Amino acid sequence: MTPHLHTSQQAHAIADISTALADRGLDLDLLATRMRTVSPESDATGEIVGPPWGADDVSALNMNLVPTRYGGCPALQSLVAQATLMAFLGEADASLALALPGPGLAMPPVVALASTQQQARFFQRFQSGAPLWGAFAITEPDYGSDATAMRTRARKTGRGWVLNGTKCFITNGARADCVITFATINSQMGRYGIRAFLVDCNTPGFTVSRIERMAGLRATQLAALSYADCELTDDALLARGDEKPLDDAFSGAQRSWDYFRPLLSAVMVGACRRVRADLVAWLDAGGTPADRHRSVASVEASLLDIDRQIAAAWLLCHCTAWKADRGAATSMDSSMTKAFASRMAARVTRAAMDLAGIDGITAFPSLEQAYRDAKAFDIMEGTGDLQRLMIARAAQRSTSRPWDITASPAGCPAQPDSPPDVDNAHRSGQETSHDT
Ligand SMILES: Cc1cc2nc3c(=O)[nH]c(=O)nc-3n(C[C@H](O)[C@H](O)[C@H](O)COP(=O)(O)OP(=O)(O)OC[C@H]3O[C@@H](n4cnc5c(N)ncnc54)[C@H](O)[C@@H]3O)c2cc1C
Repeated sequence: MTPHLHTSQQAHAIADISTALADRGLDLDLLATRMRTVSPESDATGEIVGPPWGADDVSALNMNLVPTRYGGCPALQSLVAQATLMAFLGEADASLALALPGPGLAMPPVVALASTQQQARFFQRFQSGAPLWGAFAITEPDYGSDATAMRTRARKTGRGWVLNGTKCFITNGARADCVITFATINSQMGRYGIRAFLVDCNTPGFTVSRIERMAGLRATQLAALSYADCELTDDALLARGDEKPLDDAFSGAQRSWDYFRPLLSAVMVGACRRVRADLVAWLDAGGTPADRHRSVASVEASLLDIDRQIAAAWLLCHCTAWKADRGAATSMDSSMTKAFASRMAARVTRAAMDLAGIDGITAFPSLEQAYRDAKAFDIMEGTGDLQRLMIARAAQRSTSRPWDITASPAGCPAQPDSPPDVDNAHRSGQETSHDT
């Protein structure tokens, strides 16, 4: 860790989380240490090497992101707590942090769109001693940013539903046990034709057709998923039961993006803290900058810029998470956070590579890995271009000052007073697509 980049408040926050997880059998420090150890091999193979968790850790990992009423850890219900945790794990290894077991991206649409019984069934499956993964499938080979134009088709039958289509770039898709899959009942209806289905990965017709060869975030094993006459029961359709005639499952996808963009940003913050720490460790060990004419003052200026960038990204991330925990965050807050954090990650990792040069990268391969990971960060959860487009559109629409991220009912203190449940947060999603 780099103590000067971790405020004592953050240290307390992670200590509290660590204690709460220890009560559930998970040793957080040991997990992070093991993630660091297996990081190079996981990056080389795209596998979760080890695995870095022990048998006792599994149930707490599975239950991360599960609401309290279904057995989730109360200390991890707020988005601020989740962001703090993800920054900590991202510092150990960004890719593995995103590849840990649990419902993952599938959680927000289930909370937003499913009935109480469906939620109970979905979250109960994670009460297991074996590692389980959820996944979220919306992107298709021809429709990524423009997700509302998806072609995966859901057809109603007498017995339930039949899905046909292909999804791609699905995080943890190859190891998932269940996938929240978005499909259209009528492509002419745009976002209003979209429905969300819980697809068990044992369902006949569902196959993992490919695992991508990735430049970065390799352990997340992005997969292409194929649905060929995939028969589902009626109950697979996520439906609260109080929907308006014109159903809008796409808002469930938006909830996922609103929720995970700050978390992804926190992972980036953690990854860049690690880059900064490794860079300093290399310089302290006598490493000389790639450009041998650089003055000490110029190297210090670069480090200062790195610190400034990381601190700003964390503040934005924390502020958005804090607002979200109070139902005051908008999709734009999440977009601004992610757009800033992914540019920050690109800039910091590039600066570190330039400074360290081939000698530094040889001594600390993590610097080069972080550079590749930063590229993937910019694309997942909506590309940086699309985030900027959404921010600009929201700014044009708004008569207030949309860029004033501190605007919240009660300002933005460093810590939440009382963490709300995961399922009560993030009610304020307003956008409708990666490309609205
Ligand atoms: C690491 C990673 C994890 C992912 N995980 C998941 C997942 O779990 N589930 C899932 O469903 N998807 C996932 N994705 C897919 C991701 O959401 C899409 O890759 C992303 O939305 C971009 O879509 P695309 O790849 O089709 O690119 P395209 O939409 O084809 O975009 C190509 C380029 O054009 C630009 N562009 C597109 N439209 C516009 C526009 N209107 N204005 C300006 N520029 C534009 C983009 O910024 C980009 O640079 C993941 C992707 C990555 C890299």
